[in-house]
Amino acid sequence: MLRKSSRIDGMALSEIVAISEAAARLRASGHDVLALSTGEPDFPTPPHVRKAATLAMQNGVTRYMPTSGMPALRKAVADAAGVAPAHVIVSTGAKQVLANMFLATLDPGDEVVVPAPCWSSYFDMVALAGGETVKLRCGAEAGFKMTPEQLEAAITPRTRWLLLNSPSNPTGAVYTAAELAALGAVLKRHPHVWIASDEIYDLICYAPFTSFRQACPELADRTMLINGVSKAHAMTGWRIGWGIAPPTLIDAMTAVQGQVTSGACSIAQAAAVAAVTGDMQHIDDRRDAFRARRDYVVDALNAIPGIDCPVPDGAFYVFPSCAGVLGHKTPDGTVLETDADFCGHVLASAGLAIVPGRAFGLPGHFRLSYAYARSDLEEGCARLQRAVADLT
Ligand code: PLP
Repeated sequence: MLRKSSRIDGMALSEIVAISEAAARLRASGHDVLALSTGEPDFPTPPHVRKAATLAMQNGVTRYMPTSGMPALRKAVADAAGVAPAHVIVSTGAKQVLANMFLATLDPGDEVVVPAPCWSSYFDMVALAGGETVKLRCGAEAGFKMTPEQLEAAITPRTRWLLLNSPSNPTGAVYTAAELAALGAVLKRHPHVWIASDEIYDLICYAPFTSFRQACPELADRTMLINGVSKAHAMTGWRIGWGIAPPTLIDAMTAVQGQVTSGACSIAQAAAVAAVTGDMQHIDDRRDAFRARRDYVVDALNAIPGIDCPVPDGAFYVFPSCAGVLGHKTPDGTVLETDADFCGHVLASAGLAIVPGRAFGLPGHFRLSYAYARSDLEEGCARLQRAVADLT
């Protein structure tokens, strides 16, 4: 029998993946299932980016890359951030940047403060690296954002990181410059705490976006900024992300990456150079399209009795409350007790896959991604409406 390491104790299949797989199983058995559950733009990777990849292949850019990244990509990212390339690591997706960062810095018992709801992978990544997540509940009444008081109260001598994500997955909440500065004022009093700012949705923002580095430049010597091409450039499958941080941290992360994956895919890095330095018109066009979809989805969901959908300022998710439908009965007499019960009912009765809020650390809600075609969103909202109308 396989003996698994204690390191992966409690690490379950991500609930998002589980929902997608349940939907795929239903579909395979002949059911009509629509998934609005994944955080992946439906747009294609822009043509000039795909062309750069083709050229890279034809020109023999097919060998091992330097571990910390293709020099042209490190330079492009560094130039845009106003730092030297030594401050940049390129990894196999933003996900690997985060994993490298935690593996390079956490010892058992070290704490990572995370405002929740948040992207569910954070919890498992911290655990995999031996750390402990200190989850701060940030509900709809607080705009899903952490206050300086919450942060101050959460910091202990074991706190290693504050992990921020703005715009947020799953809520779309965006911290203003003033809110970031107020958090920065707390952090200034605690020099042992580093800040990881995951800004992967920075270019998909409908309100003014402020990077943590802009809001708190005086904390740059303990700030890690995480970004990549997956979301804004519709390049989820290319697996390119980067971190910007002091070179001491970049070097430690490079040592980790060197033993896990080596440098990221050469062809994908060449494509990412084209994405980062090339024409950006698609960013504006797609942001406008996402905003129109958001407006449609928010209105359609708020028209459903028992569903309460705040308007998100960024990313491509809504995170409505389903508290108003809990306690109601499905046609077979089952009482919906939790958000997961509700999402299960919506999938079983209406063939719509959405993700329960508990996967992100805030039960009583669900996440619906609007990175889908308008026709799918219309159909999805109609299915949700039908699933709620079935309840008594
Ligand atoms: N950070 C957040 C908040 C995300 O939502 C995601 C993907 O869903 C990532 C990071 C991972 O990005 P990548 O595809 O670059 O690994």
